[in-house]
Amino acid sequence: MALRLFNTLMQKLEEFHPADGRTVRMYTCGPTVWNYAHIGNLRTFTFQDILRRWLRYRGYQLRHVMNLTDVDDRIIQESIKAGKSIQEYTAAYTQAFLEDAAALRLERPEYLVKATDHIDDMVALIQKLAERGHTYTSEGSVYFRISTFPGYGKLSHIDFQGILDGARVDTDKYDKENARDFVLWKARKEGEHYWDTPLGPGRPGWHIECSAMSMKYLGETLDIHAGGIDLTFPHHENEIAQSEAATGKPFARFWLHAEHLMVDGQTMSKTLGNFYTLRDVLAKGYAPEAVRYLLASVPYRKRLNFTFEALRAAGAAIERLRNFKLRLETESFPEGSSEAIERRTAEARAAFEETLDDDLNTAGALGAIFDWVRDLNTAMDAGEFKKGNVAAALDLLARFDSIFDVLRPTVHETAISDAEIEALIAERNAARKARDFARADAIRASLAEKGVILEDTKDGVRWKRK
Ligand code: AMP
Ligand code: ZN
Repeated sequence: MALRLFNTLMQKLEEFHPADGRTVRMYTCGPTVWNYAHIGNLRTFTFQDILRRWLRYRGYQLRHVMNLTDVDDRIIQESIKAGKSIQEYTAAYTQAFLEDAAALRLERPEYLVKATDHIDDMVALIQKLAERGHTYTSEGSVYFRISTFPGYGKLSHIDFQGILDGARVDTDKYDKENARDFVLWKARKEGEHYWDTPLGPGRPGWHIECSAMSMKYLGETLDIHAGGIDLTFPHHENEIAQSEAATGKPFARFWLHAEHLMVDGQTMSKTLGNFYTLRDVLAKGYAPEAVRYLLASVPYRKRLNFTFEALRAAGAAIERLRNFKLRLETESFPEGSSEAIERRTAEARAAFEETLDDDLNTAGALGAIFDWVRDLNTAMDAGEFKKGNVAAALDLLARFDSIFDVLRPTVHETAISDAEIEALIAERNAARKARDFARADAIRASLAEKGVILEDTKDGVRWKRK
């Protein structure tokens, strides 16, 4: 079965192939770098990472653009409060975002681009819209007249016919009830950062940046455009209007939207104040892999209820998988190969792939892997798992990890390297042979301090990081 994705535009699951059959041209709306991202934002970015990895698993190449919104109302207000230029103000949060993304093992998009580096592209797009009669100017600001674009509402599936022509909004974020002509270029305001352009002094509205940057790097029709569910309206609806009004071509073939991360039944948001940053969570001692696992474990179109209990369960699940991998790598199994086990592994792989092909059903994929791990552990205990079954099992684990990426423990910079651990273990073995148990115990204790656990088994010593 081919990969199927739920397309918000068509309101149904559709088979996905890139238009050229090879390279997926994808745009995802990135963070507004006015503050630290919260783990709700990071859920959406983790979904995009899983999507990237699955597209590659399915043999496609990627050309993925993500923007950094480094100019908007909040950034302007906060930078003025902090007495900094917007560049100075956003640099720290951009850096923080990159660190958070790296901690969560989010692959870097092929193009990570800043809005403020593309002001000229936005101006050119607004001029094109003006030439085609889709804009008007009022008090130095340029607006998109939505009555000139009959398709307005096709993404959010709302009939906006008959809304007040000429009524307009200057804020970038507004709700469906306030659908109005939206601002493309905002006139300069006293004390605020502005750019001198052929449109007059001012700054871009939020929506235009994504249309300008996506089409610049990906062409006029993208394969996939994705973001959080709250972006469907007005942001993505406005992107469609701007882009299609300018080119006359469909803007994106697939629109994918991730549901929100919730806390106690409410969307996690800065405004509600019910948020945790990744830093908050890591400071409580949770591993970044556990956060990644939790964020990835709920299929993206379902809401994810965040609790610390779920985070602990995610940590325990990773531990089970790591222990299983360690067993595969270190235990000595009977000679030969069991056909039944090879079949079981092949079946698990098929289930893993089919569930992810089904609109990235990550919960289903994890279920398939855990059932298989349980069966193979049982077979190992019973002596039915053979040496010849190891390779296929490790291969499936590697496939799993190419998507979920949680098996490798996060190594802190102060931590000890694998080679150093091996050397100390060899020294401990030598000490034990020489019956110098005090030295052997000291080595064990010093490794434990660095988070390395030794286990003496009948096959020798094996070790793992805590
Ligand atoms: P922002 O930095 O506000 O532009 O948001 C970055 C991304 O996070 C957007 O795709 C939003 O749709 C998404 N987002 C915002 N709140 C949540 C949430 N509680 N859960 C999941 N995604 C969210
Ligand atoms: Zn966007």
